[in-house]
Amino acid sequence: MKCPVCKEENFESKEIEPNLFAEVCSKCLGKWISSDNYNRWLAGLEGRLPEIPSSDEAAFTIREFELAKLCPQCRRILVKYKIGRNIAFKIDRCGNCAGVWLDSDEWATLRSRNLHDELNKVFTDHWQEEVKKEETRQALEKIYAEKFGEDDYRKIKDFKTWIEQHEKSSEIKAFIRDKNPLQF
Ligand SMILES: [Zn+2]
Ligand SMILES: [Zn+2]
Repeated sequence: MKCPVCKEENFESKEIEPNLFAEVCSKCLGKWISSDNYNRWLAGLEGRLPEIPSSDEAAFTIREFELAKLCPQCRRILVKYKIGRNIAFKIDRCGNCAGVWLDSDEWATLRSRNLHDELNKVFTDHWQEEVKKEETRQALEKIYAEKFGEDDYRKIKDFKTWIEQHEKSSEIKAFIRDKNPLQF
């Protein structure tokens, strides 16, 4: 098996979590987790760990160089999956054997957010649609923040929430829309 990054045979079998074995490249520290190994480990877990939200709003930038990687097992091109949730990198997965490639520190990052036990969900259409929605939402937030300025945009959002939750919400909106509400 050749490392998808170093293209050399540097793999060593290592237990990266209790009962989870991966082939770890001794040069780049990337990890190859076969689908069998992952699913066996997942099945042995007591339950899923609750996701830890991101504390870093600015982390959502793609840092990765977009070179295609080949599956070390079957030599197919690995497919890149965004994770969303302010995780900057994508993970590579083989569409044929369902093995997963993680660059050196990616497993540790996923584990720090308790997303390491959610990989099978990340590869579903549903998860990927949610990632796209989140990206759109963040792009729109950025546009509005630039348009109104950060401070005003925050005030506008608070005001909007206050109106939407108010029992007289439609009257308040009518009052605001009316150029001269004190005259009949
Ligand atoms: Zn390597
Ligand atoms: Zn494969």
